[in-house]
Amino acid sequence: MPLHVLVLGGTTEARRIAESLVAMDRVRVTSSLAGRVARPSLPPGEVRVGGFGGAGGMADWLREHRVAAVIDATHPFAGTISFNAAAAAAAVHVPLLAVRRPGWVPMAGDRWHLTDSLAGAAQLLPGLGRRVFLTTGRMGLAAFAELDSLWFLMRSVDAPEAPCPPRTELLLDRGPFSLEGERELIRRHRIDVLVTKDSGGDATAPKLTAAREAGIPVVVVRRPPVPGDVPVAGTPEEAVTWLRAVAATDHLT
Ligand code: NAP
Repeated sequence: MPLHVLVLGGTTEARRIAESLVAMDRVRVTSSLAGRVARPSLPPGEVRVGGFGGAGGMADWLREHRVAAVIDATHPFAGTISFNAAAAAAAVHVPLLAVRRPGWVPMAGDRWHLTDSLAGAAQLLPGLGRRVFLTTGRMGLAAFAELDSLWFLMRSVDAPEAPCPPRTELLLDRGPFSLEGERELIRRHRIDVLVTKDSGGDATAPKLTAAREAGIPVVVVRRPPVPGDVPVAGTPEEAVTWLRAVAATDHLT
């Protein structure tokens, strides 16, 4: 019987893990997507879409589908699903690995302002600039809705739902983004402050370089906490190595 692995996804890393696992013998991979994006780029292997109904629902799913290992490769800012995965995997005694790309690190010339939330970012903005490049995604924009004296270039994969700041230009686009493209956006829209989550990774990092070059401040939202007792890998390759090790244990044989 193949080893059934559940990959909690919605990220580039999750897709790369699924690509590696489908190529392995005796492995069956199901990727799980939340269903937030209208036209997601689907990974190979089986795919399920939508919430499980909390940790209990995920535990039921793991049992019912005879899952032998779970890889939580969700986005570092997906704050709830990782705790649900930790609780569900513990409840059904299935090994769990979290994959977390390293966060970004400021470099010489960066003018970063760190905060813990979108609300914190909104508080900082009026003191930092007037024309904002907002790259935190389409969720949670209500935090900025009162900032009617600022102009926003808001980039996301799908259009946000109201409420948004009143003076907003929407840019629908999906990474990876080039340095040349980010420079051009900052120049053309006369951006004087950037807002980003500390998502990490290469796909969306060029905006940080472009902001440094332009000498503009960057509001960086720190990551939410992660479950403390779950082993963490930094890359898809490490996750595949972990799975091989898990597969070699008695638990799965
Ligand atoms: P979240 O706050 O951690 O999750 C909220 C709820 O959405 C979860 O309790 C779960 O519902 C469901 N869910 C989340 N990820 C899921 C998955 N991979 N498969 C099935 N159900 C999932 O997550 P979020 O911030 O809304 O992000 C949703 C998804 O978008 C994540 O999978 C993440 O990888 C991806 N994403 C998020 C961001 C971001 O900035 N937050 C950026 C890029 C991609 P139930 O409790 O019903 O199971």
